[in-house]
Amino acid sequence: MSERKQSDKLPSKLSMIRSATKQLYSSARSVKQGLPVFVSPNIAQERFEICNDCEFYDKNSTRCEKCGCFMKSKVNLADAKCPIGKWGKHE
Ligand code: SF4
Repeated sequence: MSERKQSDKLPSKLSMIRSATKQLYSSARSVKQGLPVFVSPNIAQERFEICNDCEFYDKNSTRCEKCGCFMKSKVNLADAKCPIGKWGKHE
């Protein structure tokens, strides 16, 4: 049986666009409200370690197979969260 392509494991393009747009909007709202946009390096590292041990994390592409996001970037955003609740927003 052949291995699935990376694109077969990711959400649909529409879903990824929707998710990225939602994240951008949320970060813009944080800036407007004077809230932090980024978490500390320690929090980002904690989040990344959870992803790194997760069955849905693709270490080759550094993307999450649930949301399609590039996790090395996403873990730094204060209002980002794991789509299946393994880590959440950081206020
Ligand atoms: S965001 Fe959640 S589902 Fe995605 S790789 Fe990280 S822990 Fe896993």
